[in-house]
Amino acid sequence: MPKPKTYFIFTFGCQMNKSDSERVAGDYQSRGYREAKTVDQADEIVINTCSIRKSAEDRARSLINNLAKKFKQMADKPKIILTGCMIHHGEEKLLTMLPFVDEILPISEVGFNSAAIRRDTIHAWIPISAGCNSFCTYCIVPLSRGREISRPLKDILAEVKDLVKRGYSEITLVGQNVNSYGLEKVGIGLRKLLLRQNLKLPSNVSQYKQAKGKPPFVQLLDKICENKAIKKLRFMSSNPWDFSDELIDCILRHPQIDRFIHLPVQSGSNRTLSRMNRGYTWQDYLNIVNKLRQKIPNVTLGTDIIVGFPGETDRDFQATVKLAKKVGWQVAFVARYSPRPGTAAWRLYKDDVSAVVKKQRWQILENLINQPHLIHRPKVIK
Ligand code: SF4
Repeated sequence: MPKPKTYFIFTFGCQMNKSDSERVAGDYQSRGYREAKTVDQADEIVINTCSIRKSAEDRARSLINNLAKKFKQMADKPKIILTGCMIHHGEEKLLTMLPFVDEILPISEVGFNSAAIRRDTIHAWIPISAGCNSFCTYCIVPLSRGREISRPLKDILAEVKDLVKRGYSEITLVGQNVNSYGLEKVGIGLRKLLLRQNLKLPSNVSQYKQAKGKPPFVQLLDKICENKAIKKLRFMSSNPWDFSDELIDCILRHPQIDRFIHLPVQSGSNRTLSRMNRGYTWQDYLNIVNKLRQKIPNVTLGTDIIVGFPGETDRDFQATVKLAKKVGWQVAFVARYSPRPGTAAWRLYKDDVSAVVKKQRWQILENLINQPHLIHRPKVIK
């Protein structure tokens, strides 16, 4: 019998990428491949990339260059396949930039329903949607992953049932914007519109249908929580413009849903939020936080913040500091803005905040939110 072919996967970036890699592995195994113990033993190497910052792309490039050196002298070189967010550069450009790459794989070709190969035996990631219809100006996701597609409810529930049968009791639902699950409405035309120079950006909120009755994401959570073998249910990422009252009530009625909510704010300045095309104000954000705190007393919160976004003045930054003091996030992923080619911010704005100032602002928020023992942190929200 011939020896089965082997694969090896490198994964960069967020949980969505980790979940995608589990499905890429499942796709390989369904075709008779086996996972190689080391990269040297692999017939095919998949590099699942992240484009959130330039440094993330640089790490993938450097890995590919190292692999190129490593396998240069080999007669029977492994095939190198690139997938993930870097494919927004386009196949032609990538193959020129990285000549050692043999193939570009859009992650959508793997699909939701390839069986995931999971390492964890208790906790599982389940993708419920892919792509994004929100056009936050700094973000490459709408270009790299395309329009938002929600996975059918029955397929998600079937996967939950199967996981429970196999002994899993913790689930995290993943998607770029989980709480817009089932509400997408735009087609491919918008992507073309976005790419046209100087075009006014579509507002992110306008790209979703208004939920009539119970929002589809709430229906999904209710259905999953009927299965009492699920002891812990989490979801990420949520966005403020779809964080409905129904969702808050749903969290309240299901003790299985984790009380830690990750709700990205990105900035506490309305001017910056508008330039980011985030579709809410800091007051809207605080309103959600207050509702969560009033209804769910043991709720804790995390967030994402970008400092040094183009045009961010000291005053804008101080608005973020002020909001941080009001909200009291337990944790924040604070990123220093770096322009991503292809995004609206890259086209429309100058990266005019110096690296030194970005670092200072980053440090202030790190100390305030992530190192609270270093300074006083108020708890009262007004
Ligand atoms: S919601 Fe905004 S930040 Fe999140 S993936 Fe979509 S465009 Fe990017």
